[in-house]
Amino acid sequence: MFSIAADIRANVPLAIVEATPFPVLLYAEDNFPGSFFVSIMYKNEKIVSSPMFLFPDSAYTYYAFLAVPYGYEIADKDLSIIFSADSKILIEKTVPFFTQTYRSETIELDRTLTSIREDTSKRRQYESRMLYELIVSFEDYHGGLFDTWFMPVGSGRFSSYFGDIREFVYSDGEKAYSRHSGIDIASEKGTPVILPVYGRVMMAENRIVTGNTVVVCHAPGVYSLYYHLDKIFVKKEEEIVSGTVIGTVGTTGLSTGPHLHWEVRVAGVPVSPFSLIGCSLLDIIKKVIKIKQN
Ligand SMILES: [Zn+2]
Repeated sequence: MFSIAADIRANVPLAIVEATPFPVLLYAEDNFPGSFFVSIMYKNEKIVSSPMFLFPDSAYTYYAFLAVPYGYEIADKDLSIIFSADSKILIEKTVPFFTQTYRSETIELDRTLTSIREDTSKRRQYESRMLYELIVSFEDYHGGLFDTWFMPVGSGRFSSYFGDIREFVYSDGEKAYSRHSGIDIASEKGTPVILPVYGRVMMAENRIVTGNTVVVCHAPGVYSLYYHLDKIFVKKEEEIVSGTVIGTVGTTGLSTGPHLHWEVRVAGVPVSPFSLIGCSLLDIIKKVIKIKQN
């Protein structure tokens, strides 16, 4: 059905955990025509995929970060990781998959916040499309592989957790459900928001739902997002180092009080930011395999 080229090898994790980022690596020691691609499949259904990028300073090690989204109803079953080039399957690996559990919460919205949730304006649709297109894009950018992740706000309390199952109660009593794609850290307005990991600013603007918003790229398909800021201190296209104050905690957009919504996306999938704290993206890669340098 598929052939394994003798000069190509792959490394994958021992297991995949829901909403937790993981790397895959491919070694192609000869010049291989075409570009490499990796997909996570459940039976014949593609869950997530990414182009593969040459690891910095390596001639033949390619890598990608991936994650399986929450809410995927395939508890504790095997997934396939398929490496391909020009639609030709090169290597297929099978990896067990594990789900996590999440909290539930109910949020009551006043008339103003209800109108933001129910906003169907052209501007909101445009903003939603722009943000989506950004977080599903893959930059050939590797500046954020090496720094250790830490919490972007020094003081505060968690007011919502990653993956929370949310029931919104609108001012007219109507209900709506969604998942919380980041963590909320309630803190005083004006508290500095610090960038944990080197990156390039991809978005720094005011949006209807997320208020003053900053999105930073750290590696191909890996983005951190900062919502509801009071002030923004960085500009689009700027490269910023770990420890930079990118803005301050606020309550702009759809927000019931001063807090930072902090989110991390990998290949478009929201992942638990807690899974990154205390390690670097490179540390995560090293868990899978030692990088071969030239
Ligand atoms: Zn939030």
